[in-house]
Amino acid sequence: MKNLSLTIGWLYPDLMSTYGDRGNIIVLTKRCEDRGIKVNLEKISLEADKNKIKELDLIFMGGAQDKQQEIVNKDLIENKGSLLKRAIEDEIPSLFICGAYQFLGKYYKTAEGHKIPGLNIFPIYTENPGENVKRLIGNIIIEIRNSKLEIRNFVVGFENHGGRTYLLNGAEPFAQIAYGFGNNDKDKTEGVIYKNAIGTYLHGPILPKNPQIADFLIEKALFKKYGKKIELEKLDDSIEKKAREVVVKKYLSGYNQTK
Ligand code: GLN
Repeated sequence: MKNLSLTIGWLYPDLMSTYGDRGNIIVLTKRCEDRGIKVNLEKISLEADKNKIKELDLIFMGGAQDKQQEIVNKDLIENKGSLLKRAIEDEIPSLFICGAYQFLGKYYKTAEGHKIPGLNIFPIYTENPGENVKRLIGNIIIEIRNSKLEIRNFVVGFENHGGRTYLLNGAEPFAQIAYGFGNNDKDKTEGVIYKNAIGTYLHGPILPKNPQIADFLIEKALFKKYGKKIELEKLDDSIEKKAREVVVKKYLSGYNQTK
């Protein structure tokens, strides 16, 4: 098919992009362009017209500290949240990292004990036990196996969060932990997948290290926009694969690399 294009929305890039989340946008754009898919990137922050959300084929929002989260959350609850909810319910593929992931649940309790209401899209809630309790920081390795997406190799990233997220009844985890913390330091789950929306604690940034997830989002976006499956041309990901193998070898020496 010729003349393919996607509009990618980057929500609050000036406030919610603390840990190199821009890398995710670069990868999504580049992997589209390498296949001749034209990308129109819409940066949507506080002052933007909320109706722009209706035009998006793929949505991304990165993480932030509690301070920025409180500012953005106010705008989501009062202004853009209902259209974002509609887009997710309508199966627009999307990726929400860390602080953004926390917003989509029932609530996020900050380290200072402020309970910020969430958008109630994902059946999860998050509580930060306070500044005196250790943050969950470090390299993380996960295995992705859920009803929407299975990735045969390990997915690697970096996490840094104080909030502990708990899945409520009906929530489907995005992945299982092989190394690291993930949603909390107890149940070995990582993130959530709901319709075509992924919430995860992997900053990484996640997509440059694990481009299969970028392709999942791009494929879903094309399917949704053009109403049929469009096979994505294979790209050379050998360097990314090697980089992942180094991390897996370092932290999971007992695991089979080619798994
Ligand atoms: N402020 C949130 C927490 O610490 C999110 C942090 C983040 O986005 N890295 O849990």
